[in-house]
Amino acid sequence: MKVEIKKDINRGIETIIKLKDAYEKKEIIDFINIPDEIIPHNMEKGSNQHLLFLTFVSGIAYLRKEEQLWNAARTTWGDENTSYVFNPEQVLKTPIEKLKKDLNQYNLFEDVLQARKWSIGHLLLTDKRRARKNDINIWLNMAQFLSDFDSNIQTLFKNYDNDVFKIIDLLMMEPYSKCFPEYHKRRKVIVWITRLKRNSNIILKQVEKLSVPIGVHIIRATFMSGSIIGSTTSLDLDLEDLCAEFWQEVYKVGRDKIKLIPLEFEIFLWILGKYGCSISRSDRLCRFKEKCPISEFCSSHKIEMLDGFIKINVDQKNKIN
Ligand code: SF4
Repeated sequence: MKVEIKKDINRGIETIIKLKDAYEKKEIIDFINIPDEIIPHNMEKGSNQHLLFLTFVSGIAYLRKEEQLWNAARTTWGDENTSYVFNPEQVLKTPIEKLKKDLNQYNLFEDVLQARKWSIGHLLLTDKRRARKNDINIWLNMAQFLSDFDSNIQTLFKNYDNDVFKIIDLLMMEPYSKCFPEYHKRRKVIVWITRLKRNSNIILKQVEKLSVPIGVHIIRATFMSGSIIGSTTSLDLDLEDLCAEFWQEVYKVGRDKIKLIPLEFEIFLWILGKYGCSISRSDRLCRFKEKCPISEFCSSHKIEMLDGFIKINVDQKNKIN
């Protein structure tokens, strides 16, 4: 397919400003809560316990429904018999069969049959959800990793000069490379850092140099907002790289107006792509048109996504001068 792509940096800047404003007023589509932003009962936001909770769950937050995952995690925390699974030392002391049973108790580890059932129609050709047999290894590796840094996230970051690139490198290499899944590992690590940024005051040096971690929802939001337009497919172009570079450029040009770093764009774009554009475009009329904070930017034509393959053919309806 012939690739024709055009970037509109001003549209990107306006998109982020409008989404940020709507998010602060809780007016993005019908969206209520980010699944991982709901603080578990009896847990203080930003406490080390909260950061350990976010870290453990981020390790297995792949190839599954986010709402169910974080809900299961909160329920597991809420039961005094299973809450220990978020304590690295206790995880390492517990016999593996008991640990597995407790992690399955509230479907924090999803049943494989259940996962495959959900997969039908979504990932029929490449049922990668089977990869979650590795969840227990990820959980144990994560416990060991955290335990090596006194089970304290501040200590972990301090040991690496609070430099996000050193932390990312640490998790990409042995002996800690298996704390996150192989599936989009670097992106998963960056999403975890994004969660820490939203929920703590940990110093994160060089964080402004990280671009938005790109997944399908953010690709959809990027094109449906008209920030990038044109026609291409995921076979012809690396859409993740394209979008990551684009949002970094938007930051460089518009940072005085936007007053956010690229990692902070993630939440708005993710909400728009997941709860707005993804369920609204089976016909030509978006059912969120009235509620969408950037509806005047909404692109014409369409994006098709199936089992990892993405086909894009969009154009701007309304231009920014
Ligand atoms: S109006 Fe357009 S940009 Fe807004 S949610 Fe609908 S499809 Fe997405």
